[in-house]
Amino acid sequence: PFDVLIVGGGPAGAAAAVYAARKGIRTGVAAERFGGQVLDTVGIDNFLSVQHTEGPQFAAAMERHVRDYEVDIMNLQRATALVPASTEGGLIEVQFENGASLKSRTVIVSTGARWRNMNVPGEEEYRTKGVTNCPHCDGPLFKGKHVAVIGGGNSGVEAAIDLAGVVARVTVLEFAPELKADAVLQRKLLSMPNVTVITNAQTTQVVGDGSKVTGLNYTDRATGEAQDIALEGIFVQIGLLPSTDWLKGTVELSRFGEVQIDGHGRTDVPGVFAAGDCTTVPFKQIVIAAGDGAKAALSAFDHLIRTTAP
Ligand code: FAD
Repeated sequence: PFDVLIVGGGPAGAAAAVYAARKGIRTGVAAERFGGQVLDTVGIDNFLSVQHTEGPQFAAAMERHVRDYEVDIMNLQRATALVPASTEGGLIEVQFENGASLKSRTVIVSTGARWRNMNVPGEEEYRTKGVTNCPHCDGPLFKGKHVAVIGGGNSGVEAAIDLAGVVARVTVLEFAPELKADAVLQRKLLSMPNVTVITNAQTTQVVGDGSKVTGLNYTDRATGEAQDIALEGIFVQIGLLPSTDWLKGTVELSRFGEVQIDGHGRTDVPGVFAAGDCTTVPFKQIVIAAGDGAKAALSAFDHLIRTTAP
C-alpha cells in the first residue's frame, strides 16, 4: 500500500506528489489524464516566476518534476469510488473504472473541475481564439475591445465587473428574465458606464472569421427574434463542474459539488485530504491549486506521523 495516494494529476496533484515524495514516503499518483486542465490551455502568464509559457509545455515540466522523485505515476486511471478505512489509521481504498483498486494510508483528492459549455456552434472552433472562461487569465488580451460575458450569476457578474476595468466594453447575456447575482454585485455592475446587460438572451452561435471570434448570435426569448452582436471575446461563465461524482455519499461536498475542506486541506473523512479546483477553496487558478496541493501533502504527512501503520 501507499502512504499517500493522490487521485488527479493536475497542478494540485503534481505539487502534492513532489511534496509527499520529498518526505521519503511511498507516494502514488493515479490520474485520468496527467496534466489536467493545463493541457487545454494555450498561454499561461500568471504563474509566478514564469513570465510566459504554453499549457502543454507547463504540463510536461510538471511531469518531469514529479518524475525526478520516486513517485508511482499511474496515468489513464479513472477513480469511481473511495472506501474509507474501517478502523482508525487503517487503509483507505480507491476503486477504478478498470476494476483495479489501490490502498493507501492517506488519500489526496485533486480531481479538478471543468467549465460548463454553452454547446452552441462555433464554441469549440473558437476556443482560445476569443472564447474563454477565465477573466483573470485572458482579460488583458482584450484590452480596448468589446467582449461578452455569458451568464448573469455571481461568477458572470464578477467577471463582467473585472473585465469592465480592463476592456473597452462588456455585454452581459443572461438566459433568465433577470440577473441572478447578489444585489451588491448587480449594483456595482450597473454603475459601470461601459457595461450593457441583456436578459432573456439565449446564445445560439459563436461567429468568427476562421481565425478569431467576430461576434455572437442570440435569440431574444421574450420576442423570439434573432439578434447579433459584433465583438472580439466571449467569456463563458455558466458554471464550473467539480469532478467529484465518484465521492458522492462518502465525502462531504458543498451544494456545488465541491469537496468541503478546512484550512489544512482535510475533508470530513479521516486520512482523506483534498486540493485544487475540486474543493471549496475560492478562485480556481494554477498557482492556488499548486499551493493547496503542497498544503494537502504536508497535512497528510502530519497525519501519518500521528497515526500508527496498520
Ligand atoms: P485539474 O487541472 O482539473 O486536474 C484534475 C486532474 O484530475 C486531471 O489529471 C484529471 O484527469 C484528473 N481526474 C479527474 N477526474 C478523475 C477521476 N475520477 N479519477 C482520476 N483522475 C481524475 N489558471 C491559471 O492560473 N492561469 C491560466 O492562464 C489558466 N488558463 C486556463 C485556461 C483554460 C482553457 C482552462 C480550462 C483553465 C485555465 N486555468 C488557468 C485554470 C487552471 O487550469 C486550473 O485552476 C488548474 O488546472 C486546477 O488544477 P487542479 O489540479 O485542481 O485540477
